[in-house]
Amino acid sequence: MAEIAINLNRIKSQIPDRVELVAVSKTKPIALLQEAYDAGQRIFGENRVPELVEKSEALPKDIEWHMIGHLQRNKVKMIAPFVSLIHAVDSLRLLAEIDKEAKKNERVIKVLLQFHIAQEQTKFGLDLKEARDLLNSEQFQQMQNIKIAGVMGMATFTDNEDQVRNEFRTLKRIFETLKSEFFLDKDSFKEISMGMSGDYKIAIEEGSTMVRIGSSIFGKSG
Ligand SMILES: *Cc1c(COP(=O)(O)O)cnc(C)c1O
Repeated sequence: MAEIAINLNRIKSQIPDRVELVAVSKTKPIALLQEAYDAGQRIFGENRVPELVEKSEALPKDIEWHMIGHLQRNKVKMIAPFVSLIHAVDSLRLLAEIDKEAKKNERVIKVLLQFHIAQEQTKFGLDLKEARDLLNSEQFQQMQNIKIAGVMGMATFTDNEDQVRNEFRTLKRIFETLKSEFFLDKDSFKEISMGMSGDYKIAIEEGSTMVRIGSSIFGKSG
């Protein structure tokens, strides 16, 4: 059996059925995605819009495409017709743009709110207060073409398992808090997207519902 199929089978045997596997295929050539597809994989994650569009046009139409990287507002329109889930939404302005483009395409686009849980400095990700302000805002409450499906986060890149575990716990707690304050009657608010090649086992132990795995499936090089 080819290496990608072997990797996929190994990973799937390690994750419970309730956890979705997003195959992170950024920088990988289309032939390798096709190999994963032929092995049964149907959810792929990309972090750059032009690459996501190009691959979606070249590959079978029953693939669910997830945008997992930082998304610029001026690129939303390119993916709005087909994207299944946008993982890294961290501002009201971006959310408004997604809502606008979703409306043009007569669809509802599912998104996750990205939280900043790592110790590393990065510009990306909300904290709990910012998320509450966003969800309480009049502008958000008017939006009809987006659905907030849950939360997403990335742990610090470190060998310190306790730290990684704590950061995932923080994201799980944020999810529970928002669920109780804003989404109690909404079954659609259910996803916790956390866990990558190096830390998905810990993430699953801490409540992940969606792992984003690249190098353990496709190998490390481009
Ligand atoms: C690249 C990437 C991943 C996958 O990382 P691997 O370590 O290759 O599994 C997951 N999430 C995001 C946001 C990424 O950019």
